[in-house]
Amino acid sequence: MLPKADVHLHEEWSPRLDRVLANRNGTTPFDWATWRAELQENVPAGLARLQQLSRVSPAPVEADTDAAFFQRVVDTLTESAESGSHYTELRFGNDTVLRPGFMRMFRDAEAQVRQRHPRFRAEAIISVLMWYEPRRLYRIIDACEAAADDGLAGIDILYVPYAAEADWRTARHVVGLARDAGLGITVHAGEFSPANIAAVAGIDGVTRIGHATHAAADPRLLSLLVERDITVEVCLTANLLLGAVAGLADHPLPRMLDAGVKVALGSDNPVQFGSTIEEEYHLAAELGLSMEQLTDLTRNAVRAGFTTPERKADLLADLDRAGASLPA
Ligand SMILES: [Zn+2]
Repeated sequence: MLPKADVHLHEEWSPRLDRVLANRNGTTPFDWATWRAELQENVPAGLARLQQLSRVSPAPVEADTDAAFFQRVVDTLTESAESGSHYTELRFGNDTVLRPGFMRMFRDAEAQVRQRHPRFRAEAIISVLMWYEPRRLYRIIDACEAAADDGLAGIDILYVPYAAEADWRTARHVVGLARDAGLGITVHAGEFSPANIAAVAGIDGVTRIGHATHAAADPRLLSLLVERDITVEVCLTANLLLGAVAGLADHPLPRMLDAGVKVALGSDNPVQFGSTIEEEYHLAAELGLSMEQLTDLTRNAVRAGFTTPERKADLLADLDRAGASLPA
């Protein structure tokens, strides 16, 4: 099997926990397939659909004990490894970084998954919500800086307005602090409009952008991404479901590659979207990508990954070995 990597994956704490608890208790989890069908039928494509994501919380916050947290991380990473990922970055909500022992529990969960999938490696990222009031925001940033010493790999910046140009002054400061702490930085941008892509690509320290689907509308944006050596995290199922593109054939992934933009793949919200990283690679193949191009997506994910040089070297060596055994 082609070694894959997933560098855009959200924890979906409540939907994931609901599924883990339902599995354990033999009950029926929330029906996301029906939710998806209704979303596409009743909610206009674009931002309005994205805003529905956090409206359903099937598992209550009281159920998210440390034991439950550990179980849902194991569940997410197991699913990712079984879907063929060798390298997965999992994004957690910003308050997760305040949970005592968070990085230790994450590493324990990774170790448990690696018992059955020894080539698999995972890193943790904190999604930082820029709309928090400054005191709360900087409490999160301080905690991220401290967690970097325990192995936290990076931060993912989310902000408002998402589909119109935002004010990047505070984010620039946050990026500088995170970079100085040795954290990788990715930013969600350009999912539903070309807004913010140029601003984000211009911030020193940002090496990846989540989605940037609308960069392809403007050749200058594609050139800028190449010039700034930004790796774009493409999530095909998410783009289709939320209506960031009209259909798979309209997806700009091939145009990004033609322009020389580096791309890696992500399953985004697997429980809610019914996605897997394996399916993301299938969809990329349907868009006409060759086996070599698909392998390059994994290579890009590792090279742009927020992991240690040692882990990158191991992962790239794995890829070279796998490449040698793949049919030409
Ligand atoms: Zn995302």
